[in-house]
Amino acid sequence: MSRAAYEIVIGLEVHAELKTKAKIFCSCTTSFGADVNTHVCPVCLGLPGVLPVLNKKVVDFAIKAGLALDCEISSFSKFDRKNYYYPDLPKNFQTSQYDLPICFDGHLDIEVQEGKKRVGITRIHMEEDAGKLTHGGETITSSDYSLVDYNRTGVPLLEIVSEPDMRSPEEARAYLEKLKAILEYTEVSDCRMEEGSLRCDANISIMPKGSGVFGTRTEIKNMNSFRALERALNYEIERQIQVVEKGRNVIQETRTWDDEKGITLALRSKEEAHDYRYFPEPDLPPLVISEKWVKEIRASLPELPEARKERLIKDYELPLYDARVITSSKAMADYFDDCAALYPKAKIISNWLMGDLSRLLNAEGKTFSDCPISPGMLAEMLKLMDQGVISGRIAKTVFEEMFKTGKRAALVVEEKGLVQISDQSEIEPLVEQVLKENPQSVEDYRAGKERALGFLVGQIMKMSKGKANPNMVNDLLKEKLK
Ligand SMILES: [Zn+2]
Repeated sequence: MSRAAYEIVIGLEVHAELKTKAKIFCSCTTSFGADVNTHVCPVCLGLPGVLPVLNKKVVDFAIKAGLALDCEISSFSKFDRKNYYYPDLPKNFQTSQYDLPICFDGHLDIEVQEGKKRVGITRIHMEEDAGKLTHGGETITSSDYSLVDYNRTGVPLLEIVSEPDMRSPEEARAYLEKLKAILEYTEVSDCRMEEGSLRCDANISIMPKGSGVFGTRTEIKNMNSFRALERALNYEIERQIQVVEKGRNVIQETRTWDDEKGITLALRSKEEAHDYRYFPEPDLPPLVISEKWVKEIRASLPELPEARKERLIKDYELPLYDARVITSSKAMADYFDDCAALYPKAKIISNWLMGDLSRLLNAEGKTFSDCPISPGMLAEMLKLMDQGVISGRIAKTVFEEMFKTGKRAALVVEEKGLVQISDQSEIEPLVEQVLKENPQSVEDYRAGKERALGFLVGQIMKMSKGKANPNMVNDLLKEKLK
């Protein structure tokens, strides 16, 4: 049987590092990339006799994310200890939330082929991150030594758990992309997947179509890009189908994704919640959240991706596709808004953002937030095009130079001598020459082959190194060919 005979069930658990300045239970900094074990204190090192103090900002951010995901906010919640052997968390328990998480019963809408689809959000809870282990060899058991860096220990995390509502790897990807956008818009996390500040685990199972009874699921860890998530899920679906078709049972276990080999590998058999022996954290009082507190945070919510998309369509008459791409990243949407305030043709801005600018940024591994061309610089260049100073073709060259050097359009045009030729007396000799050199095309055009005109225009543009005003070239050619 093929994949079409099965229904796929996917749920995601996403960990987002919060953008607070201090850790969740102490005042150590959360900044990334420092020397090992320099951002530590007795609290996050778990030394005896210390007491945690909850960072209020963490709660603010959790409520904010919860509201943006249409969750209920618990008026009463508490912290719990999740007991486990954590070599990178020296207390040997993780302070997390268990039966009373701060947010629950939310949802997030994703775009699928058939239109909109709602994915349920079961819960969002706050917890502390663990440190980072570096093994001397391949694994913790085969290495001669392992090193541990506690800088990340105690950095606040939100764990966002979805319902098993997704039915394909593409839907899982769409969910993660939308979730990332919402966390960026609300500015609770910087969502840098490559730095591990947004991490994703997936639960996945298969069942025969129409059965309604979920199969045994596996959990996949260690996927740190959208592409890895899609690849890992596709691999795991095929693996589970093969297991079932051989008449065997899928084993409930945790698997890890090996991005290089493109396979998932068994890591450990799945622990149940009771294996962790959760119990209420005695060092922290229960968390009581007033309606006033929630109201204040609600008032601080920014315009979210969905609303912004609608606004771009309504105010700028952008096509749905453009509005969706631009609002998928807050930085890109901000860039668009800034540029549109300076230049009136929104669709032209959108074309540059989705085309040349995205291409150049991707090639350099940059994002819209560290773009060397500011919205004002792009607007200036577009105005030069409108004024006829540069042609569309020259603009591409100018734009690349601006991107490379950070220079303004007018300066690039001046330095490189790229001003468009709009003087008829300069263009006319070029037209004459090309007509003389291409008698066949002239004949073809006169015989009714319109395409011959395009060829002749192209030749003239080439001779002028792209600087001739294309409208003028067109007009002159047509006149001479009459
Ligand atoms: Zn600390």
